[in-house]
Amino acid sequence: MSNLWMPFTQMSSAPPPEFAERGEGAWIHLKDGRKVFDAISSWWVTLHGHARPEIAQAIGAQAAKLEQVIAAGFTHEPAQQLVRRLGEKLPASLEQVFFSDNGSTAVEVAVKMAWQYWRNQQDRNRTRFMSLQGGYHGDTLGAMSVGDPDLFNPVFEPLLFECMRLPCPHTFLGDDDVQAKEEAALATARVALEADPEGYAALVLEPLIQGAAGMQMHRPQFVKELVTLAKQYDVLVIFDEVMTGFGRTGTLFAGEQAGVEPDLLCLSKGLTGGTLPLSVTVANQKVYEAFLGDQLGPNDPTFYHGHSYTANPLGCAAALASLDILENEQHYKAIEPWHLSGLERLKGHKRLENLRACGTVAAMEWRPAKGAKYNTAPELKAAFLERGFMLRPLGPSLYIIPPYCTTEAELAAVYDVIEEVLSA
Ligand SMILES: *Cc1c(COP(=O)(O)O)cnc(C)c1O
Repeated sequence: MSNLWMPFTQMSSAPPPEFAERGEGAWIHLKDGRKVFDAISSWWVTLHGHARPEIAQAIGAQAAKLEQVIAAGFTHEPAQQLVRRLGEKLPASLEQVFFSDNGSTAVEVAVKMAWQYWRNQQDRNRTRFMSLQGGYHGDTLGAMSVGDPDLFNPVFEPLLFECMRLPCPHTFLGDDDVQAKEEAALATARVALEADPEGYAALVLEPLIQGAAGMQMHRPQFVKELVTLAKQYDVLVIFDEVMTGFGRTGTLFAGEQAGVEPDLLCLSKGLTGGTLPLSVTVANQKVYEAFLGDQLGPNDPTFYHGHSYTANPLGCAAALASLDILENEQHYKAIEPWHLSGLERLKGHKRLENLRACGTVAAMEWRPAKGAKYNTAPELKAAFLERGFMLRPLGPSLYIIPPYCTTEAELAAVYDVIEEVLSA
């Protein structure tokens, strides 16, 4: 009998899935009549709210006109426009837009580009990658290799390539040690680079917020100093803004706050407003030009990578409609103060620590009390769901990343339910 095998789910013990019927604003309406507040933007993708009519109309109109065309040798209006619109928003140095389908492939493309960049210049030394502890870059093998192995099943380890991982100076409200943690992390980076000054191909990181590590946050000045250091050693810098892109951190891109520009930038999740799978890897001219040359010569520099649905017109049309909403509404700028006042209420709760916020994202760590009702993240998740809230703690980290249409009152209700459940 056929069955639906769910992602990240132990099927032998999982409760049956909730049946979602329709979405509106920040709410998912279930088939049985209940409704659930989507406090995690359905895995961090839903930007403006569910089923936004402007995006639905854009997808429908595009589907009736041109639903798909091969992306090698052909192009179309939505892809051309999206390249132009992204160019207007990104740092001027990021000009070359390569499409793929999801966050993992966007990173996979960046990693392969960084690798081939050096091979195309006949460099045999730069074979190593550097990333941050707690980093998550997707679930395909290359993206897993640069991610933190603690976030994956160790069964895959023999298939992954080696990566040097620096400590990441996580911080939170009222953190007195942040400076010392940053200096220690930078010192580790300096030692590694000095020991092998021409050995690293690229540094990969999620700027400002490490999502899958539990929405762990670090300061923009750390990103700036680390990137500056990497560039002193000519290491290519890859920003994975798959989650942080499109306003999540309070600015359009997290990199803006650090004031440094990567060589390669990965975007997905919010790119289509959370409606269709689409991603881009944007390269600067330096990277792009290393791939130009004689295809028939002894060292063909061409980037041989592509996917069936590369630059899918429906995805591009959805992205354009989403960018219009983002520009017109700019709601993402309003949410951080609401988080801060919610966190202020939870401050001092004996089961909560490391309270933090960055733009539209807030997070904290929780400790089960002795003999408490909720001792694990799944139990906590079930307790929230019972009360009509979709919250999905990652281990001890409890985080909120709501769609931008969320009102101040709706967000305050999320903090109410956290308080209620943790006091139960
Ligand atoms: C979600 C995520 C990915 C992977 O994206 P998928 O679309 O799930 O493949 C990569 N990097 C970061 C930072 C992410 O949050």
